[in-house]
Amino acid sequence: MNHFCPGCFAEIPAEAVRCPVCGFDLAAYDGLDFEERLLLATRHPIREHQMMAVQVLGQRRSRLALARFADILANERDPYVCLEVLRALRNYPPDVALPLVRAAEGHRSRLVARFARELEAELRAGPTGPPPAPELPFPPPVRGVCGPERTMNARAAPPAGVLWHTEQNGLVFVSG
Ligand SMILES: [Zn+2]
Repeated sequence: MNHFCPGCFAEIPAEAVRCPVCGFDLAAYDGLDFEERLLLATRHPIREHQMMAVQVLGQRRSRLALARFADILANERDPYVCLEVLRALRNYPPDVALPLVRAAEGHRSRLVARFARELEAELRAGPTGPPPAPELPFPPPVRGVCGPERTMNARAAPPAGVLWHTEQNGLVFVSG
């Protein structure tokens, strides 16, 4: 079984208390809430996991995520992650989303810049579809489920090597 640091995603020894690569306090991970774990997962090296974290933060209209979203739009090289951030911004009130969307209109990726311009027009036109779903509260932190020394306690074992998200347990890192 491999263990990964939830801070930098380096492979670490099972008995580690602190990540030898980035110094992440692994015991403190248990004390993090779901939103903070999602914020860490926006740095996941696997794009799909990173995008899923962005998506869930957007669905929950996380205010904490806005600074990280701005950071991704300014510095992330992968245009698909940037597009996911723009899509996530659709969930926020237009006055919150627009400054970030406008900044992305000068993005080095033409795909991202074009989508940002379309999204600005869409946000300015106001809601066209059904009203957005009510804001989902963050579930309380579940202790003893996540982290490098924990094992999955769900009935069905999820595939190994993925960051797994469940409503009950939040984000869990499963390794093979
Ligand atoms: Zn680390």
